[in-house]
Amino acid sequence: MSDSFDIIVIGGGTAGYPAAIRASQLGMSVACIERRPTLGGTCLNVGCIPSKALLHSTEIFAEVSEGLEEHGIGIGGVALNLRQMIGRKDEVVDGLTKGVEHLLKKNTVEWVKGSARFEASDRLAIDLVEGGTRTLTASKGILVATGSDVARLPGIDIDEERIVSNTGALSLNKVPEHLVVIGGGYIGLELGCVWRRLGAKVTVIEFLENIVPSMDREIARHLLKLLKQQGLDFRFETKVTGVEKRDADLLISVEPAKGGATETLDADVVLVAVGRKPYTEGLGLDRMGITLDPKGRIPVELGFKTAVSGIYAIGDVIAGPMLAHKTTLDGVRCVEGIAGRYPGVDYNTVPAVIYTSPEVASVGKTEEELKAAGIDYKSGTFPFLANSRARCNGDTRGLTKLLADAKTDRLLGAHIIGPDAGTMIHEAVLAMEYGGTTEDIALTTHAHPTLPESLKEAALVLLGQGMHI
Ligand code: FAD
Repeated sequence: MSDSFDIIVIGGGTAGYPAAIRASQLGMSVACIERRPTLGGTCLNVGCIPSKALLHSTEIFAEVSEGLEEHGIGIGGVALNLRQMIGRKDEVVDGLTKGVEHLLKKNTVEWVKGSARFEASDRLAIDLVEGGTRTLTASKGILVATGSDVARLPGIDIDEERIVSNTGALSLNKVPEHLVVIGGGYIGLELGCVWRRLGAKVTVIEFLENIVPSMDREIARHLLKLLKQQGLDFRFETKVTGVEKRDADLLISVEPAKGGATETLDADVVLVAVGRKPYTEGLGLDRMGITLDPKGRIPVELGFKTAVSGIYAIGDVIAGPMLAHKTTLDGVRCVEGIAGRYPGVDYNTVPAVIYTSPEVASVGKTEEELKAAGIDYKSGTFPFLANSRARCNGDTRGLTKLLADAKTDRLLGAHIIGPDAGTMIHEAVLAMEYGGTTEDIALTTHAHPTLPESLKEAALVLLGQGMHI
């Protein structure tokens, strides 16, 4: 077993493991250091994958519970087997994390199980999970892909049983009576929906005046309306100042964000979902001469180079959207850069999806961002109410909205709230990658009847040629 590699990647998440695989494909010898018992990082273990498995199961539960009589389908009593539902989610996670392990083996990447810390810019000491220390050196670069951790609130201790982060919220052993979600971002909304669908009363407490501040406001208004219809309660401009444990109950103290009288709420479970913070603990970056930015991120320049030659950083630990596919983009481009290719990335074409029901998907600029930047734009929207496939499916919630440069017609942003929005957004992503216009989308023949016809129709509306509205 060699201790010298071309590339060493610290972290086996969605930034680290694809970087390791790509480096190996490019002919480099690679080690990937990961201390968790399974690969895949946050996304596969406690993020994207388990949350989507539960969102899918609970969506089926909600649909069947609400009844399918409209379709002429009668169903008897609907029962919840939460243990089975959580078990299924665990199986999905297990299958995928094992799959990553297989992929590393297939690509001759050595998984070194332990915690890495820097000894020099090309040398790491690994405190091995099995005990002992191993020293590894890298001749072409060390990639820091240590990801992010839950952002915590002062005085609120997460125990992962009653006061939970995403990790605990994905494995509760009973449906809470009242779940208080602190934070109206995508993690809080998705997990709030999971437990609401299974019967919990859910209250989302948000410091700001809106859910998901980065979302196009028109779309956010629609989402909020639909989530309220699904029974989620919201308290905006409200600050949680403490959570006290009282026997079976939790007493949550809240006050207006701008200051004012304190109130208390009762709940049996509190989910802390106020965001994520970059994770670099124990690496010894300061000793290496790397200073974090005020948000705790590792500053990088083109090619993901840090201030120290030979050390690179990718994924949630650097700036940019904290999304799995963005972290993979970083990882792949970084090692391609090391191999002599162009390592540039364009985060403007990284899509974002919120897997509520209906889904919300976006790429590019929001209307608010275009206004703030003083860009002259045109907008075209098309509601799913006017889309024939949505009518056939009996789900006409939401709309498609396209934003284009007023002079050149170049697509600047796309925002979809509606059934399968996360799948449909990729047409707009591709159009933006190619520098496409809304006329390109309008001239593209879309199969009928399909949901993506809403993109073509929104483009036609924007061009003043709307046909079905
Ligand atoms: P991580 O996945 O955090 O991986 C870093 C790894 O490094 C960890 O496994 C850690 O154990 C390891 N590590 C850290 N320090 C060391 C060390 N010193 N030595 C060895 N190993 C170390 N994104 C999406 O795109 N779509 C979604 O649907 C989505 N859903 C999400 C749902 C939830 C509930 C959460 C929490 C996140 C979600 N995300 C989603 C975000 C996504 O999970 C992250 O953007 C992504 O996992 C970050 O990848 P990463 O590789 O940068 O870091």
